[in-house]
Amino acid sequence: MGYSFACADAGAPCPGSFATETKDELLQHLQMHTATAHPDLPNTPEAAAQVGALIKQF
Ligand SMILES: [Zn+2]
Repeated sequence: MGYSFACADAGAPCPGSFATETKDELLQHLQMHTATAHPDLPNTPEAAAQVGALIKQF
């Protein structure tokens, strides 16, 4: 069981996808990735909620 997120699911033209065992870990990866690969993305609670809705649990 784990969590995954793919930038493509959010409509971003980016091959980035992440899978971790915990949601906290995934959010940490995403934070680092967005800071380096998507510096133009807004850092707002709304954007975070959107990303959160796209996180898949497996
Ligand atoms: Zn990305």
